Formats: sequence, structure tokens, C-alpha cells
Amino acid sequence: MGMSIFLSKSFTKAFIGALGYAIAVLPVSAANAENYRVTDQAAYKKAVKALQPGDTLILANGEWRDFEMVFEARGTKDQPITLRAETPGDVIITGRSNLRIGGAYLIVYGLTFKDGYSPGKEVVSFRRDSNTLAHHTRFTENAIIDFNKPDRTSNDQWVALFGKNNRVDHNYFAGKTNKGPTFAVRLNTEESRANNHRIDHNFFGHRPPLGGNGGETIRIGVSDYSRTRSDTLITRNYFERRNGEVEIISVKSEGNRISENVFYESRGAVVLRHGGQNTVSRNVFFGNGVSDTGGIRIINENQTVTGNYFEKLRGTKFLSALTIMNGVPNSAINRYHQVKNALVANNSFLDVASVGFAVGADEERSAPPLDSAFKNNLLVTDSDMPVSVFDDISGISFSENISNNAAFAPYGAAIQPEIDLVRAENGLLYPPQTGKFSSVGAPRDLVPVKRSETGPSWLEKPAQKIKDARVIDVSSGSELSQAVLQSLPGDSIVLSGATYDLEAPLVIDHALTLRGASSASVKAQLKSHGPSIFILKEGARLTLENLVLGATDNNKALLHAKAKNYRGAYSLAMTDIVVAAPAGEALPIPVLDTDAETFAEQITLDHFVIRDWGGPVLSLSGEGLAGWYLADDVTITNSVFENLGGPLVIFGREGRDESTFGPRFSLIGSTLTDVGQKDYALYLNAIDGLILRDNHIVRSGAVYIRRRVLGMPFSIADTVFQQSPKPQVFDEAGKAMDLVQNGAGK
Ligand code: CA
Repeated sequence: MGMSIFLSKSFTKAFIGALGYAIAVLPVSAANAENYRVTDQAAYKKAVKALQPGDTLILANGEWRDFEMVFEARGTKDQPITLRAETPGDVIITGRSNLRIGGAYLIVYGLTFKDGYSPGKEVVSFRRDSNTLAHHTRFTENAIIDFNKPDRTSNDQWVALFGKNNRVDHNYFAGKTNKGPTFAVRLNTEESRANNHRIDHNFFGHRPPLGGNGGETIRIGVSDYSRTRSDTLITRNYFERRNGEVEIISVKSEGNRISENVFYESRGAVVLRHGGQNTVSRNVFFGNGVSDTGGIRIINENQTVTGNYFEKLRGTKFLSALTIMNGVPNSAINRYHQVKNALVANNSFLDVASVGFAVGADEERSAPPLDSAFKNNLLVTDSDMPVSVFDDISGISFSENISNNAAFAPYGAAIQPEIDLVRAENGLLYPPQTGKFSSVGAPRDLVPVKRSETGPSWLEKPAQKIKDARVIDVSSGSELSQAVLQSLPGDSIVLSGATYDLEAPLVIDHALTLRGASSASVKAQLKSHGPSIFILKEGARLTLENLVLGATDNNKALLHAKAKNYRGAYSLAMTDIVVAAPAGEALPIPVLDTDAETFAEQITLDHFVIRDWGGPVLSLSGEGLAGWYLADDVTITNSVFENLGGPLVIFGREGRDESTFGPRFSLIGSTLTDVGQKDYALYLNAIDGLILRDNHIVRSGAVYIRRRVLGMPFSIADTVFQQSPKPQVFDEAGKAMDLVQNGAGK
């Protein structure tokens, strides 16, 4: 697995004497303080009971397995009590383990939770039990990595903050794949409210899409307590590729500040979901053109969004760089309160796909924003439709904005077609500091937190980008198998021979390209005598180009996305691929088969040709999975499907949850002839976004489309149905909807 590889290679051991480090980072112990070094669980339990203010309890280096730790003690402001690793990074807590903390003035330092899972609801909990919470406690320089329950639908949290005045800082969190927020601030009793917690300088590394609700990174409160104050500060953290679901931070309480954090290529948004009087200021969002990268979404009263910087974000609708939602009149506490008195000022929106007002307007969400202001913002974008408005926005006053894009003229923006942006020393783009420009956009004194300033000092983070790729040439099946085994993320393997016979499937678990040599006179053909040619594991980013995929009687599929437990998403891109069926027999197997525990971020087929095949091409049925589904985005372009048992695609999903990015399906510029004549040519049950354009569908079966959440792009245009039934479109409840070709979808 990708994550395990980087850990074993790059965990740097900090050979710093315990005392030396303690002096550098932690309060100096008093002269009479004791150090207890323990090597087993029994000794730990005994030592905890003896702890006095100023003492330190040291876990000896090594593996601690099946360790349900309770750290209950009472230090003082000047003499806290510390639980720490002997050497940070060398104390590994694994198996069925967790940590419950109760008391006051405690410090937990240098622990690593890895490759296990909590038998309870939390991995690290700031309460021993409901009567004994932790206060004035610091959790610093620890790591929680791949610590997941075996079943992705079981819910837990990696860190649950209770009590008051706690600090969680300089920790590393990455790889959560089961349901539940990575980090939760809990407000269920008075003792945990108005808590003054500080969450700072943590590194939140990759969280793959969950494919359902509950993939947040941080949640503050829940809707039941959302009218109470939390007063939590989230500052100078680094959020990298936090792709779990549409909410990266879900604020469900009042009085919180989210300030000076960096969001890097994170698919999702900071969402002021419930509760008012929150401030989101001076944060930096770098989307780098990655799909579904979002900004800030506003719901409820008295929210302030100022001084933020958004660059190259590609999210739309709920994931726009800025989304101001419509509310529900007299909303129930768990729905959408109307936006009132929101201030959105001095933000820079640079090369973003969308800014949206009154988003989510529908029969239920019919209350547009009121008494709000959008001013002094800088909007520089060449997007065709940079503003989306879904209802009356007379309740927002627009003033003193500047944009290069005439689309913003109705929104209080002076239009200046040429705006020269220069990257300043802080890494951010600014216009010239003259005249009216000096009062718009993000402040010039922003200092985005550096990646290196976050996380534990003892832990080397994985590289942010894939290293320069190697290109490896192979001429036989055995060479190919070897090359795949030894490949590193980002490598390309070039197939210059004609045929590649494989004894067993190629197992892919990282970014890898297999490409037929462009100089070859015939496309290289792959064939496997195992159950499939490829097995796609979590983390696979497989690109296939210019190849023939052959089938044998042993095959159960040509590609098989395989997992017993969900441990992360995969993606698949196929370009210039021909599928060769054995002569004279139409194998009734899918080209891509997917286990119910897998999830694809993206599947693309371009210039893909398949004829005389007995089964479906893409089998992505999430039927019976209660809200979970198997692929976010499937896009097929310029492809040919002829004489298939079909369907071309089987897609399934249940429920109405809006926490996910998809599912979405596009079929463009393609021909289907004699596909799924007996039943379905396309079976899409159910999807959010759909584009069918410029296709030719001949003598094929039914096209079944059940829409789920409305509001995503949906259009059927210039698609010819010849001797084939017209598509049947149904709403979420299964009621037939009118089909309008070439009409704008709603
Ligand atoms: Ca959510």
C-alpha cells in the first residue's frame, strides 16, 4: 500500500535525548518531578496512578498492541503532567487501541497510532468517560495514520475534543477511510461549550473520497447544539488533498474562528453549516486546477468571511469558491437557516470557476439571503459563467468590487479588462498597489502557513508531488510483470512488442501508465491467463494508452477493482484502447468489474473500441448499498461500442445525501450499435450530473436514467436514437420526467 511504503522509508528517527527535547518543547520539569519509563501495559497502569504534578510517563520504544490507554491525572498550570514517547516515531500504537484522557494540565507528546483501529467511537478522546473530561490539555507532535475500522460504514473519530481550553497542535493525520470526521469538537454538555480550544499547526494529509456522508476533516458541534457557542480557533493548519466529502470543515456551532489555514488541492469546502457568528478570515486556498476544489459556503446569520485568498479553484454549485445558500423558512435545526447579515469582504478570487448566490434554491430552500454585503473583493477570472444566481439576491448589497470579467458588472464590480497580477514574496498574486486596487482583495500582509511548519518536527511528510517519472521499456509478459512490481508512483511503462502474455493479473496500487509504443506497427496486446489482466487496488491511478486488451476463457473481467475493506479510491483512464474478444464467442463478463467496497474517483474512456462482447463494459452497481456508491465521475468520449450484451454502463446509488461530489456520467461523441438489445443500453440508477451529447445510438436497448439530487448539470443534446427507444428519465422517487433534448437541464 502506498501509505505504508512511504512510512517505512521516510519515518525519520529523532535521536534526541528525551531530556533535550523536553527542554526545547515542553515546560521544564520541577526539581522533584519523577520520570516513569514503562515497557508494558501493567506497568503503565500502575504508573498512571502515581502521577503527581510535574511528572513524566514515558512509553518505551517499540510496538504497543491492543492497548486501550487511559491517561487520567491532574497537573497544575506550572507543573503539567506529561505522557510521551521515549523517542517520537519509535513508539507505535497498533492493533485495537485508543487513548482516553481525563483531568487537567496534561501533555501527550510523540505517539504514533498506525495500522490499527479503535474498538470504540474515538481513537483519542479528551474525556475518560462522560464525568471526567480533559481541560487545559495539550496533544502535540503525535501522528495518526491509516487507523481505520475494517468496515467503512462503521463510524468513529480520530480525535474527539471535549472539555475546555485544550490545544491540539503540530500533529499529523492522514489516511482515514472509514466513516466519521477525522477530528470532532464535541459540545454535548455545558462543560464542553465556549471551550476556547485551539487547533493549530496540524498537518491534515490525504483523505480519499468516502463515497458517502461522514468524510469531513473537522466538525465543530452537531446540529442539535448548533445554537450554542463553541469559540474554537482553527489556525495555521495545512489541509492537503482532503477529499473525503464536500465538507472539509463543517461548522455546526457559534463563535468559531477559522483563520490563516492553507487548503491545498482539497476537494471540498469550509462550510458554515449550522450556527452563526463564525469568522473565516485570512485563509489561503490553492486548487491548482483540480476538479471540485471549493472555498467557503455560507448558511445562517452573522457570518464573516474576510481577507481570504482563492486561486485556481474548480468547484461549482455547493463547491464554488464562495457559495451563499438559500435557506428554509422557519428551518428545523438540522436543515438550512436563512443567511442574514453576512459580510464577505476583501477576498481575492483568482482564476476560480464559480461564485454562487442563493445556491440550493428549491421548493424547500426558498428563503434568499438578507441584509448581507459583498464588497471590496477582487475577482479576476476568465471563466465563462463565473457567477451563478439561483434566486432573488436583492438582500445582498454589492459594492466596491473590482473584476476583469464583465459578468461581475451587475455585482458592484468596476470592470477593468486587463489586471496584471504579480506573485509577491508570500507566494500570492496581487494587482498593482495603486489607486482603487489598494483597498480590494486579500491583505498584502498574509503569510500562508508553510507545509514544513505543520505536523510533528520528527516526522518527514510524503512528497507533495509525484517525483519525475521514469520510463521503462518492456518486450515480454514476464518483463512487464516485473516492471509493474518494481514500479514507483508516476512511472510509465512502454510496450514496444506485439503480445504480452501474463500468467497472473498485474496488481496496481499507485500512479502508473502503460503505453503501447507509438512507433510499433501493431498495437501491443495484453492477455492474462489469470482471472483478469489488471487488479486495481486502493490508490491505483492507472492510465492505459494505445493498447489492445485481449480476453481469455480464464478471465472473469479484464479489469477488476478489488477490495475487502475500503482503504481509498482509485482512478482509471483508458485512451486508444481496443478490446479484442476471442473469435466466435461473446464472453458474458464485464470489462471492468468492481467490488462493492471499492470506489473510483474518476473513470475515463476516450477513443475506446469494443465489438462482439457478451457482457457489460463498466459494472458499477451500488444497488443495495444504502447511500454508498462506486464511482464519482465516469466520462466516455469518442468511443465505439458494437454488438454488446450490455449495458455499456451499470450505475447504481440510493439515498438523497448531498455530501458527495457525484455520481456523474458523461457520454460524448460516441456510437452505440446493437448494445444491450435485450434490456438496457445504459442503466443509470441513480446519478446527479449527466451529459449525453453528439452520440449515435442504433438498434440498442433502453436508456434508463434515474436522477438523484437535482441542480447538477444535466443535458441530453444532439443524440440520435435510431431504431432505439428514447431515454426514460425518472426523478428520485421514480416518477417519470419530461425529456427535453437540447434544453438546458435543471
Ligand atoms: Ca457531511
